[in-house]
Amino acid sequence: MSNNMDQRIVIIGCGRLGASIANTFSDVNRNVVVLDKKKEAFQRLSSGFGGLIIVGDGMDLQVLKELELHRASAVIVVTNDDNTNIMISQLVHFVFHAKHIISRLYDVNRKSVYEQLQIATFCPVLLSFDTIDLWMKENTI
Ligand code: AMP
Repeated sequence: MSNNMDQRIVIIGCGRLGASIANTFSDVNRNVVVLDKKKEAFQRLSSGFGGLIIVGDGMDLQVLKELELHRASAVIVVTNDDNTNIMISQLVHFVFHAKHIISRLYDVNRKSVYEQLQIATFCPVLLSFDTIDLWMKENTI
């Protein structure tokens, strides 16, 4: 067993982004656990997906307990709602003491709130802007 298998990557939200991240890490033999409140969401996982799937609400403490977050090397919170993501990230941080948490944030204006809570974020809006900005520079537009 490789070192990559020692610690789990937990993904909360198996939507378009969560499933894509889960498939990508599974493809490189990382130990992946993915949670979604809707069981249909797991249809997005590839046929070769080798991780664990759990159906449940990420706001539910009992469900979070099942994820064995103390074993997680990373927790990636990507539901489709900023309030849900911040709530889950806080539970994961303060109740389950996970070390590394990153959360999707649609509303750029809330970035400072997450920063105060020491939760890393990525904003699709900012990432899109960076890509467009780079494309414009490369094409001298
Ligand atoms: P997407 O917008 O395609 O990235 O999908 C977001 C995913 O997050 C969907 O599959 C939702 O079912 C899932 N989701 C939303 N809220 C929760 C929650 N509280 N717990 C677990 N999964 C959730």
